[in-house]
Amino acid sequence: MGVERYNGVGRVEYSKSVRGKASRWHEVLGDAGRDEEEAPDDDPEGEGAYPEVQFDDSGPGIEELQRALNRHADSGSLDLWEIDVDGTYGPLSHGLAVEVVYRLGVYTRRIRSDALSSYAHELIIGPERRNTTQKQRAKQRAKEEPAAAGEPRIVSAADAGIRTRAVFGRLGPQTRVSTHYSAGPRARNLAEGLRIAREHDRFHASKGWGGSSYHFNIPDTGEIICARPVSQKGAGVKAHNSNNVHVHFYGTTGDRPTQAQIETAKWLFANAHTAAMPSGHRTDRDLRQADIRGHNQWPDQSTGCPGHYTPKGLGLK
Ligand SMILES: [Zn+2]
Repeated sequence: MGVERYNGVGRVEYSKSVRGKASRWHEVLGDAGRDEEEAPDDDPEGEGAYPEVQFDDSGPGIEELQRALNRHADSGSLDLWEIDVDGTYGPLSHGLAVEVVYRLGVYTRRIRSDALSSYAHELIIGPERRNTTQKQRAKQRAKEEPAAAGEPRIVSAADAGIRTRAVFGRLGPQTRVSTHYSAGPRARNLAEGLRIAREHDRFHASKGWGGSSYHFNIPDTGEIICARPVSQKGAGVKAHNSNNVHVHFYGTTGDRPTQAQIETAKWLFANAHTAAMPSGHRTDRDLRQADIRGHNQWPDQSTGCPGHYTPKGLGLK
């Protein structure tokens, strides 16, 4: 099975068994894993006019960067989301930055999961430092095939800015699945989903859970935001977390799943074990064969969770 790992110098990479198969993942992350055989020498070492940027950096320079990212996102040929210009560099800014750098035809190997290199920063503000090879590569990337029809967009935990620790040990064989709501606001789009997922990650970390207790999050628009790797036991259900994969929908009592959430839930349960998923979030089996329940359908639970986000309400049973 493929292993998702951080190589310590600038990118996440994957074992050979995964490379080239998780097209959706690549589209989100950039080209990590795809360029390894190519010479890395066409990226100037990043001692440019703009500083390295890290999560939670703020100020006018970040606003300038965010405006430049939105210009790229809005430039027509790129089907990208725009971000709020709030002057703080967070996971949404970083996710867009990684995508823009990839689309500009530049290796993403020096972009860390939580920081942007000086060179990448400069490139986003003004891409004229690109060489011919990079421009040709950008043209190739613009022609890349979109993912298969019906396949939702998948955002890796790294791109979402979520890194959990296995404080509860290993999940074990993935024989059970729980659906949850957050008892909080809906996430009306990917941007809100990412923001709230990161809030959950911080909140759950503050409880000593090692970060997000959910393995997957699905906003109203049907993207899959990966959080805790499926190798790690979470903390979603009292006394029933072993072997239990937690799938979270944003909302509370009275909220109902959107059609996009229903379609994505069906897709996820049928495909979570396939190469369409990032390796850290690939299950050990077809989840349709697991024991799937809403949170309060396990014994001895006193909670309104998952409200209408039950397996039945999500069209899974
Ligand atoms: Zn729950």
